[in-house]
Amino acid sequence: MDILHSFYCRKPWLDLSFNLKIAAKGKCQRCGTTVKDIKYLIGHHKIELTEENVNDPSIALNPVHIEIICLDCHNKEHRRFGGKKQVYIVYGSPLSGKNTAVREMMQYGDIVLDIDALWQAVTFQPAYIKPDNCKFNLFKLRDEMLDQIKTRYGNWYDAYIIGGYPEKYERERLAQMLGAEMIYCESTREECLTRLHNSGRPKAWENYINDWWDKFND
Ligand SMILES: [Zn+2]
Ligand SMILES: [Zn+2]
Repeated sequence: MDILHSFYCRKPWLDLSFNLKIAAKGKCQRCGTTVKDIKYLIGHHKIELTEENVNDPSIALNPVHIEIICLDCHNKEHRRFGGKKQVYIVYGSPLSGKNTAVREMMQYGDIVLDIDALWQAVTFQPAYIKPDNCKFNLFKLRDEMLDQIKTRYGNWYDAYIIGGYPEKYERERLAQMLGAEMIYCESTREECLTRLHNSGRPKAWENYINDWWDKFND
């Protein structure tokens, strides 16, 4: 497990970054833009996180060193050119914070393949509504992207694949095929259900959360 990336998936960071975004009242602390949803804000470390300082709370979890900025401003940070393409599989329960964590660890020019978002892009349905008759088209599209990632085709920097992947065998097979590292968005069933109830999302999502935890094995 990659310690730098997994930091962004753990509760202390997710909670701190969420609270700082609420306190910022939807406003970018750098350019002053107000965003329409706090998911478009990023908690950015002014001191770049490294494997050496990520476990030091006085740096990694200290609000003094964290700036709440919009995606545009964040895209101007962390520019990195060349280097080896890294691939990460970010998995965990629905509402475990996968998307938030990836937004904070990624940079402009990376590829993010979010399987649920791909369903939405192709079927125009709300999250987690997956018309069965479209699955072959969806899977083919997904596999094409996975193949590009596997062969490191193109000029992207790093790639993130976001998915539930509750089954150990399935995610390990994928990781091996892609030469990817796995990042687990750690949470508990109760935390995810609490987030759901506080989020105003449809109650039906309880089933998606429960299904994931029923299947999960590590
Ligand atoms: Zn900004
Ligand atoms: Zn940042």
